[in-house]
Amino acid sequence: MNHAFYVDVLHALADGVYVVDKEQKIIFWNKAAERLTGYGSAEVLGKKCADNMLCHVNAEGKELCMNGCPLELTIQEGKLAEAAVFMRHKNGHRVPVTVKTSPLRDDIGNVIGAVEFFSLSLSRENFFSEFEKLRKEALLDRLTGVGNRRFAEITLENVCSQSKNMNASYGVLFVDIDYFKHINDTWGHLVGDEVLRMVSKSLDSGLRIFDIISRWGGEEFLLILPNITAQDLLIVGERLRMLVETSWYEYEDTIIKVTASFGGVIAKNGEELQSVLQRADNQLYISKDNGRNLVSIEN
Ligand code: GH3
Ligand code: MG
Ligand code: MG
Repeated sequence: MNHAFYVDVLHALADGVYVVDKEQKIIFWNKAAERLTGYGSAEVLGKKCADNMLCHVNAEGKELCMNGCPLELTIQEGKLAEAAVFMRHKNGHRVPVTVKTSPLRDDIGNVIGAVEFFSLSLSRENFFSEFEKLRKEALLDRLTGVGNRRFAEITLENVCSQSKNMNASYGVLFVDIDYFKHINDTWGHLVGDEVLRMVSKSLDSGLRIFDIISRWGGEEFLLILPNITAQDLLIVGERLRMLVETSWYEYEDTIIKVTASFGGVIAKNGEELQSVLQRADNQLYISKDNGRNLVSIEN
């Protein structure tokens, strides 16, 4: 590989990279460094980074160029260094970056300069998206990826109070897989888990965009359907029943199928949540008692 190839590779990196000679004069500045700092390479080549440019400070506000510059330490001691700092962008503001420096040596091992890599640290913006991620994780069921019980309860409370305030109806559907214990007993728990994933995806596929699916527990799902009539609840329920019935999971050349039983109601005006859920659960038991793979909706 020729020199140009390696230069291209350095320019392609997402991290900022720059190289200094022994006097800490900048001799290479990649494209990411231009992007992250605002300084073009023509502006910085031949200068020292301490020349009123990046002016790294640490979290306590200590100016590292004068005392504790990681590049300087690397050149003096020939060791790797790493620091979390705030660099100064050309436009004036501070940018949180993690810098890593590494010595460059000649053929006989003398340090002739150093390379610094820097990347954006966890900024506040990233912090919030991390936070969002954690929040989501706390409300999602790990196995199936649909909402968990907590998520269902929060959603139900919102939908319930909205319906009280705005006089809007909503429906709930309990779904319980039929003879699921038999699947576990025959094929093992891991296959049971795959079947659970399959059922949750099939249910999800048949819902309207604003309906909500959650795993209420074990092999039971709760679906929340805002703005729906009893007739439409039956239509949706029948469609979901069919979608589960016509799904299958293949395991060691065997086709594994399950069915599910459904029970649903439309919430009455101002009805308490517990009562809505109790009535839906009663409907589910009617489907089970009548032979399973059925949808029962209270009129
Ligand atoms: P029914 O038609 O009356 O609903 O029969 P069933 O066998 O589905 O009902 P039962 O409540 O007796 O069994 C539910 C089974 O679901 C028992 C439990 O081991 C299994 N189960 C619950 N959670 C999970 C899970 O996360 N993974 C797997 N593989 N199985 C689970
Ligand atoms: Mg079951
Ligand atoms: Mg059950």
